[in-house]
Amino acid sequence: MNIHEYQGKSILKHFGVAIQEGIVADTPELAVEAAKELQKQTGTGWWVVKAQIHAGGRGKGGGVKLAKSLDEVRDRAKDIIGMQLVTPQTGAAGKKVNKVLIAQDVYYPGESKTAEFYMSVLLNRQTGRNIIMYSTEGGMDIEEVAAKTPHLIFKEEVDPSVGLQAFQTRKIAFNLGLSGTAFKEMNKFVASLYKAYDSIDASMFEINPVLKTSDNKIIAVDAKVNLDENALYRHPDYAAMRDLTEEDPTEVEAGEHDLNYVKLDGNVGCMVNGAGLAMATMDIIKLAGGFPANFLDVGGTANAARVEQAFRIILKDPNVKAILVNIFGGIVRCDRVAQGIVDAYKSIGEIPVPIIVRLQGTNAVEAKKIIDDSGLKVYSAILLKEAAQLVRDVVGK
Ligand code: GDP
Ligand code: MN
Repeated sequence: MNIHEYQGKSILKHFGVAIQEGIVADTPELAVEAAKELQKQTGTGWWVVKAQIHAGGRGKGGGVKLAKSLDEVRDRAKDIIGMQLVTPQTGAAGKKVNKVLIAQDVYYPGESKTAEFYMSVLLNRQTGRNIIMYSTEGGMDIEEVAAKTPHLIFKEEVDPSVGLQAFQTRKIAFNLGLSGTAFKEMNKFVASLYKAYDSIDASMFEINPVLKTSDNKIIAVDAKVNLDENALYRHPDYAAMRDLTEEDPTEVEAGEHDLNYVKLDGNVGCMVNGAGLAMATMDIIKLAGGFPANFLDVGGTANAARVEQAFRIILKDPNVKAILVNIFGGIVRCDRVAQGIVDAYKSIGEIPVPIIVRLQGTNAVEAKKIIDDSGLKVYSAILLKEAAQLVRDVVGK
């Protein structure tokens, strides 16, 4: 689960990481109030107005703007709130901005001794260990640094049996070219950042830029945080940070019905029981010349109500040209599922795309007969090979 920059920063602050302070607002008037309050708290004379969306690259898309007066805060907030922000990470449609973070300006004007670093903590799935990635070349072009000069990105792996060690934070501060106060501050920064990542069951914490100010403070200017959804039950206060307006509405609806649905770009919808079978089915669709329009695992109870709900969700996607239902009847009997499909079909009314149903397992033959006798426009198959051929026939046209 992704959260907003302002939420990520509040978590960082809780764990003792120094941050660029800010107050969130959803109207230009509240933005001005936030700016005044922030001035009281931090003494800042300038502010940065930052769009809060679940995507990076906001600076490049015009979603991060400096304001040198309260009037400018109001104007920039007016520009940004409600805008459809397009960044290198949002896709062409962009994302609508509902809130801005009014942050203190931490790039003291006229100073040249500031430095922008990159730092992230994430899980290296190959080694099963957390890894800290960092670079002296932080800021808005980190993707380019990774592509063109990967040797400028350092990695430090953490042994889970002992945790992050002091020699490692010193090595990081040293590799970032720091000395004196800044060196000490960076040690604290890395240790607190790692503690935050570890304590909240995050799967990613990316701070870009980490700023060294001219007076040698080390602060988080940005925060991109991803929380492990499987561990959210342990953190109800972080679970409450979920912003449904940032997520795909169809995926949210599927989640409400306990359907495991992920939207993809293809043309063949699929409904499968079991995640492994769903992955295999997506492969079959590709081999047959189609492209999967989604991943959908209906789970163990493929009854009529769930099948109907799954059809409705798949059909919301206008790109779907055919639907492949691939159910293995182990505990759930195929004839029951077949009846469920027929009932769901009748309940929805005319389904505008061809449906291919492959039912295998307990009572597969009876199930095929139910489908074939139903008089509905449903192609049935028992073998996956036959189902693939049907997909090919349908999407090949
Ligand atoms: P991103 O583009 O979505 O990664 O958003 P960031 O929060 O990283 O901000 C983008 C850029 O805005 C940063 O790389 C900085 O160069 C700039 N920026 C952020 N905060 C300040 C600030 O306080 N003062 C000034 N002058 N620039 C800032
Ligand atoms: Mn950033």
